[in-house]
Amino acid sequence: MKQQTSVGGRAIIGPGLLFVISGPSGAGKDTLVDALRARMPTLRYSVSATTREPRPGEREGEHYFFISREEFRRRLDADGFLEWREYNGNAYGTPRSYIEATLRDGFDVVMKPEVNGAMAIVRAFPEAVSIFVLPDKFSNLRRRLLERRTESNDEIARRLSIAHEEIRFVRNFDYLVINQERRSEEAVDDLAAIFRAERMRIHRFPDDSLASVTQS
Ligand code: 5GP
Repeated sequence: MKQQTSVGGRAIIGPGLLFVISGPSGAGKDTLVDALRARMPTLRYSVSATTREPRPGEREGEHYFFISREEFRRRLDADGFLEWREYNGNAYGTPRSYIEATLRDGFDVVMKPEVNGAMAIVRAFPEAVSIFVLPDKFSNLRRRLLERRTESNDEIARRLSIAHEEIRFVRNFDYLVINQERRSEEAVDDLAAIFRAERMRIHRFPDDSLASVTQS
């Protein structure tokens, strides 16, 4: 079945499904999505653009497109983002053309915006499947952020205060996946189960695709 929506005035149409994985910084979204992509080679990932500086080990075009404020503004003015948000002093945006083309080509796409961006996508695109990821304890967010050693203490404090706000929106999502300490494979199983089940929802099957299995 074709999905259609209008984000920023233009339609997105595609037989592919859009999966929106969100949740606070430190919940483990990156690790879970990496593991999921390793299991599902046809799943496409929407690489966001950001004005944030790359962290050690982050690669251009793989983790993000790292661009200047001016370039971000230019793309925004050209309607190049499906959604965008300021997060902790930097801008992050979802490039529009990649998602539109990939869904249209029939591939499923996963993206992992922060919570406001996720809700903007869901409002504009009700067919999107939204999943909220949380750790089993709030205190694990802080510990994970400390352990990855990529942010200063001030930055961690700001991310945790944003996390408090973000968690209030959990009920706006279709699914909740708990990423338990040292059991992230189970959370990946949960995500994979959601993806599989979503593909089998009856309204995803066009009538003509059912003909051969329903007619005697
Ligand atoms: P980080 O700096 O940790 O990579 O990302 C900060 C937050 O921005 C994370 O919650 C991340 O999921 C979110 N984020 C990454 N890309 C996008 C995007 O394109 N749009 C929105 N709204 N949030 C994003």
